[in-house]
Amino acid sequence: MLQTENSCGEFLRARQYIPGGVNSPVRSFNSVGGSPLYIASGSGAYVDDIDGNRYLDFLGSWGPLILGHSHPAIVRAVKEACEKGMSFGAPTVIETELAEKIVSMVPSVEMVRMVNSGTEATMSAVRLARGYTGRDLIIKFEGCYHGHGDSFLISAGSGAATLGIPDSPGVTAGTAADTLVARYNDLSSVRELFRKHEGRIAAVIVEPVAGNMGVVPPCEGFLEGLRAITSEEGALFILDEVMTGFRVARGGAQEYFGITPDLTTFGKIIGGGLPVGAYGGRKEIMMQIAPAGPVYQAGTLSGNPLACAAGLAALSVIDSDSTFYEKLEKRSAQLADGMRDNCRRLGVRGVLNRVGSMMTFFFTPLSRVSNYYEAAQNQADLYGRFFHLALEEGVYFAPSAFEAAFVSGVHTEDHIQKAVRAHYNALKRLSVL
Ligand code: PLP
Repeated sequence: MLQTENSCGEFLRARQYIPGGVNSPVRSFNSVGGSPLYIASGSGAYVDDIDGNRYLDFLGSWGPLILGHSHPAIVRAVKEACEKGMSFGAPTVIETELAEKIVSMVPSVEMVRMVNSGTEATMSAVRLARGYTGRDLIIKFEGCYHGHGDSFLISAGSGAATLGIPDSPGVTAGTAADTLVARYNDLSSVRELFRKHEGRIAAVIVEPVAGNMGVVPPCEGFLEGLRAITSEEGALFILDEVMTGFRVARGGAQEYFGITPDLTTFGKIIGGGLPVGAYGGRKEIMMQIAPAGPVYQAGTLSGNPLACAAGLAALSVIDSDSTFYEKLEKRSAQLADGMRDNCRRLGVRGVLNRVGSMMTFFFTPLSRVSNYYEAAQNQADLYGRFFHLALEEGVYFAPSAFEAAFVSGVHTEDHIQKAVRAHYNALKRLSVL
């Protein structure tokens, strides 16, 4: 048994002052049971909790840490930026440098606007799509999560899925009515919505690889089909690459699958671990944003020099290593193959979905998981028990059955072997419990 008295004590204290004790619901361990671990520090592939336990980390702060914890280049860049001043509310050169870097890495992005989170990026991209097209409705997909903006808390994944609040109180009926919901990997459900609401749909927004109902890859032709339908119907195609951007390939999922969206939203990796988001796309559309155009969007701390320094450092490290994604793919495949092999040896039924360095193992009797309905068959109670046993074996996966495990560039072959052994031991203990 893990000793976690200090974490438990801290959680009790936090619950007096912070709703539910946490600043983001899924951190609370609600969906896996028990009390959350308080992290004291992270270094490379490891995190240490305040009780002195050490874990090999595959949460990676829910995706941003593709270079692991406290990467020296990012720490140096943030320190240097910090010493020059934290925020000016005036333009700084590093904002242009980061924008240039993003544009050079993601060909569909000709211009980019920095914001402070993935949620802000998706909210702003949808406002821009509505302003640009003069239409009100948007289509999202069941189980896809695009942050906590009102328009997206309709059939959302991530914390909203595990907490059972797909339609949060506080989201008005009017807002909900402007969001249409289609089935992931089902183009006919999209065509049907366009038929019913002809000329009224501003945009389709999608996670190109769903990561918030667990990892669910797009079926062959799905993203291509969405591109074709939106073009035919005069709607914008928004790829939400908050999770997949700079993760599944240098140019994100759009490079991986060869798709050109109209707009793209970013977060996570783009901030190198600091709170950042961005949205970008074709110049003609982006020029509609204030002050260049009439669609208003602003932010006191947007383009903050510390955050931009961290993001630029992270992207520069990735971009300067031509074998970065090759190595990441190799390690990720090793982990996935090892976990599949463990399941076979122990007779555990399930499906492991993986795209690049993001993956989810579903405890399910099904033979595939390709949409929200199939993802929801995941036995979350089994995952919760597995999660705690994995912690005891020294590995930190996401504290929810409907999330991804992330491999980072600092996971070595040795780390992966350790993780596969820990996975085996945890599964073995799970099957005899
Ligand atoms: N979009 C996707 C695909 C995400 O995975 C997330 C967060 O997990 C968001 C948007 C929201 O980003 P943030 O939590 O930074 O607001």
